[in-house]
Amino acid sequence: MRYIPFLALLFILPSCSMTGGGDHWGNKPGSQGFRTVVIDAGHGGKDPGAVSRHTGQREKDANLDLAKRLRSELKGSFRTVMIRSNDRFVDLDDRVKFANRYGGAILVSLHFNSGSSSRKGPETYWWRVDSHGLAVRCQRAMKSVAPSSANAGLNRRRLRLTRNPSIPCVLLEGGYLSNSSESRKIYSAAHREKLAKTIAGAIRDQAAKGDASTGPRPRFIKAPPSRATDAPGS
Ligand SMILES: [Zn+2]
Repeated sequence: MRYIPFLALLFILPSCSMTGGGDHWGNKPGSQGFRTVVIDAGHGGKDPGAVSRHTGQREKDANLDLAKRLRSELKGSFRTVMIRSNDRFVDLDDRVKFANRYGGAILVSLHFNSGSSSRKGPETYWWRVDSHGLAVRCQRAMKSVAPSSANAGLNRRRLRLTRNPSIPCVLLEGGYLSNSSESRKIYSAAHREKLAKTIAGAIRDQAAKGDASTGPRPRFIKAPPSRATDAPGS
């Protein structure tokens, strides 16, 4: 039995009645017991994503490699579906449509980051209330193999891949390709394997335990879907 704080109920109940029980902002407890994981390797084809000036590695290649490793790690525990399994371009809205075909599923979008040369460490983006626990678990997991600097790490942001899907979803940035030492780590297959293993562990924990031990449930924020024009680079 899950404990629902009284204050959270105040946020949940009015919005449920307003939408007639419809719930496309994910305003409910985090997912538990899901059997399908939709894996999204960010970028692809004509869109390389970030490119490391230290190693020459392209984000789209690192994302796809990590996605395949994650698929292998999850095999046996979950049905896995890849949004792309080769080097091709897929529009963000098409990725959302694809993910929305699956019920009893979560969506995990995999990326590597780029920014000022001193920034490093993993980051996790989420929006829906039902995605918070999964986001906390993924961020904790990635930090265990890629310790971060003072970066906030866990970010609630309305992106096309965090706001628009109708299933719980997180967008993971596995580290900074723009940081000299971190980009060299990311270049190593052994490090990407560690990342895949730890993310798989976070997903298994979320499926087994739901939001337990992931902190208070966040408040519901009513906001329109994210559009191409409001989230460049997401
Ligand atoms: Zn990216």
